[in-house]
Amino acid sequence: MSRAFNFCAGPAMLPEAVLKQAQSEMLDWRGTGMSVMEMSHRSDEFVEIAETAEKDLRELAGISDDYAVLFMQGGASSQFSSIPLNLLGEKTSADYVNTGIWSKKAIAEAKRYGNVNVVASAEDSGFASIPDQSAWTTSADAAYLHYTPNETIGGLEFDFVPESGSVPLVADLSSTILSRPLDVSKFGLIYAGAQKNIGPSGLVVVIIRKDLLGKARKETPTMMNYQVIADNDSMYNTPATYSWYLAGLVFQWLKEQGGVQAMAELNSRKAKKLYDFIDGSDFYANPIAARFRSWMNIPFTLADDGLNGAFLKGADARGLLNLKGHRSVGGMRASIYNAMPEAGVDALIQYMAEFAKERG
Ligand code: PMP
Repeated sequence: MSRAFNFCAGPAMLPEAVLKQAQSEMLDWRGTGMSVMEMSHRSDEFVEIAETAEKDLRELAGISDDYAVLFMQGGASSQFSSIPLNLLGEKTSADYVNTGIWSKKAIAEAKRYGNVNVVASAEDSGFASIPDQSAWTTSADAAYLHYTPNETIGGLEFDFVPESGSVPLVADLSSTILSRPLDVSKFGLIYAGAQKNIGPSGLVVVIIRKDLLGKARKETPTMMNYQVIADNDSMYNTPATYSWYLAGLVFQWLKEQGGVQAMAELNSRKAKKLYDFIDGSDFYANPIAARFRSWMNIPFTLADDGLNGAFLKGADARGLLNLKGHRSVGGMRASIYNAMPEAGVDALIQYMAEFAKERG
């Protein structure tokens, strides 16, 4: 069986080299006679795997010692609660930017714990554009400012990092982490579910400035308390060991590819090709303002919705999988994370051109 080009938004494609390495080490990790899955998380071997993964991530993303890196569980969604519980502290409110479905979920969860000020919303533009920061109603008194740099479903991506002054900036980087360089020092907290650019689902990486630790409300569940997780090197309980190991393999692979700068060049090229093709066609369309088009998730519609089924069937037959758009928006969506080879985008464009010619 040959590998398909999987355009799923997540869990998404992993680099083939990583899967092959995991396969070759599956039964016997480097002469230990066991799989990483079977190792004690307290063993020297696993601690080395865990530490190496963290070191490589720090190197790739440029994370200084001012930050703790946590390998947590419960996906990015669990962070929607952990963030207010840990960061509200004595404050009563937090600022949130609403750019789509994932921001809204974060907002809904935060409302359980405090006042949420929605300081800007992309709703007026039909979630096709991001309001200029000069129009945001941020408050210097907010516990933090939360935003979603890339909306995975809508395909809306910030092309700037908001200025938040002394208010800690919090970002849900789930679908864009490691896809291009980012100045981590501008952030108080970054979190990302793993299943797009890092590894298997369930794992969530949290990067938190150390001065923000230790402010959790007393009712915060122990497993959600960043200070506890940091003090225990993310091993307060049994961590998601195999996912952590796979994340480490992905980080090594990224380093071999030339790191995030090389990824940015590749990702920008892949996205541009697809957007240029869509814009040049009168059969396909993408509604997002050019500036804010996502490099990772590219939704598009066909001129006739009635052809969606035939489009997907033909795509499947060619090994171009999971192009169906999210159920809330319909149409198509091509997710092209780091592990999607440029050849996958080329194959998609070729198929789209042929389909439009035949059916358009
Ligand atoms: N935030 C964003 C931007 C996402 O894309 C996703 C998942 N698609 C989530 C949060 C939720 O992640 P999880 O399913 O890991 O909880």
